[in-house]
Amino acid sequence: MSDRTVIVGGGITGLAAAHELYRQGRDVVVLDAAPRVGGKVAGGPVDGAGLPFDVDMAADGFLAREPEMTELCIELGLEDDLTSPRPGGAFMWVDGALRRIPPGVLGAPLDPDAVAASGIVSDAGVEALRAALDLDHPALAGDATVGEVLRPRVGDEVFTRLVDPLIGGINAGTADEMSIRAGAAALANAAAKGGSFGQALRDHVATAVSAGPVFHGVRGGSQRIVDALQDELGDRIHTGAEVFDLTRDGDTWIVRTDDHAHDADAVVLTTPAWVSAGLLAPHAPEVAAVLAGLDYADAVLVTFVAHRDQVRHELDGAGFLVPRDQGLLMTACSVSSYKWEHYDDGEHVIMRVSAGRTDDGRWLEMTTEGVVARLLDELRTTVGLTGEAVARVTEWRRCLPQYRPGHLDRCDRIDEWLRRDAPGVRIAGASMRGLGLPACVRQGRAAVGAGA
Ligand SMILES: Cc1cc2nc3c(=O)[nH]c(=O)nc-3n(C[C@H](O)[C@H](O)[C@H](O)COP(=O)(O)OP(=O)(O)OC[C@H]3O[C@@H](n4cnc5c(N)ncnc54)[C@H](O)[C@@H]3O)c2cc1C
Repeated sequence: MSDRTVIVGGGITGLAAAHELYRQGRDVVVLDAAPRVGGKVAGGPVDGAGLPFDVDMAADGFLAREPEMTELCIELGLEDDLTSPRPGGAFMWVDGALRRIPPGVLGAPLDPDAVAASGIVSDAGVEALRAALDLDHPALAGDATVGEVLRPRVGDEVFTRLVDPLIGGINAGTADEMSIRAGAAALANAAAKGGSFGQALRDHVATAVSAGPVFHGVRGGSQRIVDALQDELGDRIHTGAEVFDLTRDGDTWIVRTDDHAHDADAVVLTTPAWVSAGLLAPHAPEVAAVLAGLDYADAVLVTFVAHRDQVRHELDGAGFLVPRDQGLLMTACSVSSYKWEHYDDGEHVIMRVSAGRTDDGRWLEMTTEGVVARLLDELRTTVGLTGEAVARVTEWRRCLPQYRPGHLDRCDRIDEWLRRDAPGVRIAGASMRGLGLPACVRQGRAAVGAGA
């Protein structure tokens, strides 16, 4: 027995697992195929923009009400650098204007009057919401798509213009196909109460408001979390170490990279589902089959930097979302220089624009220059950008898993099959029980806390 844990994949899940083992004084090795660890937590300079700081290339904040990521930051000594987005909410681009999103839970609104005032939905849509929200709905049992649960409770137009842009946007997917339990737990819990959905949402918000800020970020960007973990773990981290084989010798697992075979009595796979599937196929074929069936969305994030005078809209909000019926390529624009004080140098506007969804791969057919030109054009239309802007393109291929109904039950079965067929191996991270950073940290910790 080596009493060593090998973590395959050094994204936030793998690093959080390693951090936990490090704190317990246990032997751990992290193997990552990429030249750097951090996975989808990454930041860097925007070349040519003249910004005195780096900017996030993917995750820029995390839910504060799921405490695990905040706790990790505190353990890493980043407590004083935790911050929250500036108040101001966000906008929706609808019918040629940016309109403030009314209060709600994951896009599901609390108050039909506020929806009417927003101008996001037609009068008929508001009346449909009014009629549906406080009906005596049956309690949700089991799982279903977000669309199956929400459409009868908020009406089709509110669903299309408020719920889908938010939930579909977070996941680069479509809320009509997504598991409500795995992808929108707050809405699932509200629907599970039965009766008035509006009341359940209002109760949820009343409890949540007393729980402090909704989101946290780290001054200087999320990369700082990765840097702190890297400093702590030092040479326990091996980059450029693609794991291509997992074999078993009694109770010992042998994890192979090009130039090394690592013995371990516990292995945590935090790799994307298709990678974990390949590694597990010889040992746990049922697990491999389920993992191989998980779809991923491709997305691109273009960071635009312009001078403040070049933008007509005041941009006094965290950004805006675009419903799929508005004919744009962009799905969302995060105005980082407003959202995060640490990205506001008083001179520039920083806009992180996303495109791509499971059912919209148009950007994949375009050249990089074409994507940038198109999104720039859409910024001219939406925020009134004039002149040119510096652009940094970050492509994220197969980056966001698409949880379909029954996903969490399948995760439970995966755990059972692993215990039976591959004892000592655990799977954690975005392919399993949640893709937000707190969920990833929670899973990484649980995978090693449970003895893996
Ligand atoms: C554009 C974008 C924006 C996002 N924004 C937010 C946000 O604001 N807030 C939030 O909470 N979440 C956000 N997310 C989601 C969140 O960032 C991810 O779900 C999370 O970082 C995934 O972490 P992970 O450790 O599970 O996987 P990953 O980060 O994917 O890490 C997996 C690691 O495995 C490595 N690997 C792959 N194959 C092998 C192999 N064979 N051998 C060894 N290593 C291998 C990879 O190199 C990678 O480092 C965003 C995601 C994207 C794509």
